[in-house]
Amino acid sequence: MKKQGLLLLMLLLILTLPQVASAAENQKIIAVTFDDGPSKYTENLLTELAQRQVVVTFFMQGRNAERYPDIVQKAYESGHQIASHTYNHPYLPKLTNEELQSQLNRTISIFNKAIGTDSNYMLRPPYGSYNAQVLAQIGTPAILWSVDTRDWQSRNADSVYQSIVKNSRDGSIILMHDLYPSTITGALRGIDYLQSQGYELVTVRELLRRRGISPSANHTYSSAYNKGQTLPGLTPPQISYDAANNLLTLSADPSATIYYTLDGTPANSQSSVYTAPLTINNTSWELSAFAALDLNGGRSQRVHLLISTMGNCFADVYKDSWYYEDVDRVVAAGLLTTDNNYFYPEETATEQMAAILIQRLTNNQPPEVNANQPLTRQRLVQLLYQAMPNLVASHNELAQNILKLEEDQGSVTRAELAAIIMRLP
Ligand SMILES: [Zn+2]
Repeated sequence: MKKQGLLLLMLLLILTLPQVASAAENQKIIAVTFDDGPSKYTENLLTELAQRQVVVTFFMQGRNAERYPDIVQKAYESGHQIASHTYNHPYLPKLTNEELQSQLNRTISIFNKAIGTDSNYMLRPPYGSYNAQVLAQIGTPAILWSVDTRDWQSRNADSVYQSIVKNSRDGSIILMHDLYPSTITGALRGIDYLQSQGYELVTVRELLRRRGISPSANHTYSSAYNKGQTLPGLTPPQISYDAANNLLTLSADPSATIYYTLDGTPANSQSSVYTAPLTINNTSWELSAFAALDLNGGRSQRVHLLISTMGNCFADVYKDSWYYEDVDRVVAAGLLTTDNNYFYPEETATEQMAAILIQRLTNNQPPEVNANQPLTRQRLVQLLYQAMPNLVASHNELAQNILKLEEDQGSVTRAELAAIIMRLP
């Protein structure tokens, strides 16, 4: 019976994993950028951006990145682009070449220490000031802007918001500074507005890529307006685990670069860069290995790979979750394969999912259900009793679980459904 349960869960997962939607080709895109941080306000900004599923670009001063390395790491792991704004914000045209190189190299080494990669960090020259000599020396693209909110001057959230609303267009690069509470408030309102207008917020790197622009070192870019062509977004990275051979495969967009770190340590000198697809024999991996997939277009995605001797590789099934072992055992047994590294454990299961399970379990016709109807606890009990009266009656453990369920009229999550099936006697 247990093996049957495992098989059922596998089928359940294969059949019900949501598809990741790909961006429409003519999507309006825009890049929000924050200069001069990180500051004590940046962590809150990151939280708010995560809630909106928005990525931005941070042009950080090296000295502030040095002070808040955890924020740099968190921003990077959340998919934001980390870029340089020099170490301490000098007026670049006045520097000697040696001073300029010191400003750039010092900042890059601080970034590398925090996020452990050797990305090609873009630069925004302080004050947007540069000359031919500066451009020739920086060795990276210089990113300017097309919408200046003048947030540092107004220190007024409404003014920041109004500037975003009035001046933004498809392909804009918006300049703000994550140094002021008024900016954070105004920026978030502005971002909500842009999302309501159908904009996809992307990093600068991704904005340029989507508009077919390959940024060159020593050139400036201040926007990427829509000239009739928008490339689709990169395919999200996918992770699959072959338990029989103990092989992990990361597949990403062919143009993606993958950064990964083993053993759950933050990215550091252990990081390696690969071009996808990448197959790793993970025999020696410890629990909680991480992989950071930094897509070339800047939609940097750090993927939490729960690789262990038992093999769960869902990015959203954490080791300390109560259902971790249920999912983990199935993966370790090689019964679960998926081309998607998310399990969506907290999402509500549907009646159709229960019906598919029952069909597999009984080899009978599936019970008639209202396919997309959220699965309530009461309905699950009903379906199981109808399909398997003997099983239910003869196994106390299951019966008790079901009775417990029946007391609660709430809906059943995917994790709960998986656990119920895994724990069938
Ligand atoms: Zn600045």
